[in-house]
Amino acid sequence: MSQDFYSFTLPKLEEYLESKGEKKFRASQLFKWVYGHRTLDPEKMTNLAKSFRDNLSEHLRFGLPPVIFEKISNDGTRKYLFDLGDNLSVESVLIPGSGGRLTLCVSSEVGCNLACKFCYTGKQKLKKRLTAGEIVGQYYQVLLKLPEDLKITNIVFMGMGEPLDNPQAVFDSIETLTSTHGFGLSRKKITVSTSGIVPMIPLITKSGTRLAVSLNGSNNEVRSEVMPINKRWPIEQLMEACQSYADETREKVTFEYVLLKGVTDSMDQARELYHLTKKIPCKINIIPFNEHPESGYFRPSEGTIHRFQNELIRLGAQVLRRKTMGRDIYAACGQLTTAQKKTS
Ligand code: SAH
Ligand code: SF4
Repeated sequence: MSQDFYSFTLPKLEEYLESKGEKKFRASQLFKWVYGHRTLDPEKMTNLAKSFRDNLSEHLRFGLPPVIFEKISNDGTRKYLFDLGDNLSVESVLIPGSGGRLTLCVSSEVGCNLACKFCYTGKQKLKKRLTAGEIVGQYYQVLLKLPEDLKITNIVFMGMGEPLDNPQAVFDSIETLTSTHGFGLSRKKITVSTSGIVPMIPLITKSGTRLAVSLNGSNNEVRSEVMPINKRWPIEQLMEACQSYADETREKVTFEYVLLKGVTDSMDQARELYHLTKKIPCKINIIPFNEHPESGYFRPSEGTIHRFQNELIRLGAQVLRRKTMGRDIYAACGQLTTAQKKTS
């Protein structure tokens, strides 16, 4: 049976083609055509021997995950829904920022078993861990749909799913996104966000990408309430892993902190959050909760959000409020959920 081309890193493709009795160098030729020249049709890959081209479809498939729809928000955010077959679909969100920044937020799973209480994706049990090809495919499809003058400058693994619950595919996709034979993106422009699967965090360190951690609670009691994973790997262990990342990479950790009304938004919690993170070189990203039906949580008032942020700033933290983007098309953080393909 033929395999999905986009799931292979270059070394893996070399190995695979050799196992099929083909020459190893065909792999880098294919990478050059597909990623370098954006040619997906083997018939157009003119420097490949005809005999190799003729057999190619037995070994490899070059189709990208089809885009079911693209929605554009009035703030310029774009949401893409991809068909993964088997009645499953997944979303990516493209978010414009200041200074020409254009960030693609990709998904790593359909649904998520970590069941964080406030997260829409987490309401659905894990349906599928994406293949590396389905992750690379999200980037590639968006790239093909963009006007030539627009460049995706950053990639964040902050869409549906927990990247460290699907590490092989995530890090293989990063290999292709960053390889000079692939898309040649900088590893420093890729951020992997995790809810805190502590033993896997060194994989992010090793990959040379940026680490973001969803903290969402300033002590074990609150964090365990909103993120069940905290019972398995409590805050102390998580902080130790973050410290190691910062020590080894000399990069800052990004702590994401969702503000939930009456749960994570008190002044005491702002101070506790500061003291918890102050020893680690870090930035704190506060994310006002994006409401969704039946979550039982609410977004704090603007006043509370400002006071929380200002308290952190007063204490000396580097803190940014994440702007809510794409809310009108349901593309904001934690609003992604599409276990079933939309039929309407
Ligand atoms: N599984 C990974 C990455 C995907 S979630 C992780 O948990 O880090 C990406 C971010 O969205 C996380 O920081 C999460 O805390 C946040 N988030 C989830 N639901 C949200 C919501 N309803 N409103 C605001 N942020 C949310
Ligand atoms: Fe999964 Fe992240 Fe949502 Fe938690 S916040 S349920 S880890 S996608």
